[in-house]
Amino acid sequence: MNNAEGMQERFSELPPTLRKAGMKRCHQCNGHFGLIRHKLALNHFCSRRCLNKYKTDTDRKMARIKRVDRLSYSKTVRAT
Ligand SMILES: [Zn+2]
Repeated sequence: MNNAEGMQERFSELPPTLRKAGMKRCHQCNGHFGLIRHKLALNHFCSRRCLNKYKTDTDRKMARIKRVDRLSYSKTVRAT
């Protein structure tokens, strides 16, 4: 019977947002958890490396948002 294999293939085609449901995979690499699980806020990570990667990614994103905020702010100040 090949049913299980077909099911698995169909699941892997699902978008990452749906596959993430249930929090049974690492938030960063989407890999399975080992013996140790790292937690940050509501997210779970399979390793410290993934956790750090997520942190640096988030920091970079936040820095970009802050920069854009400052730019748009100075623009509005100049305009008025
Ligand atoms: Zn991971």
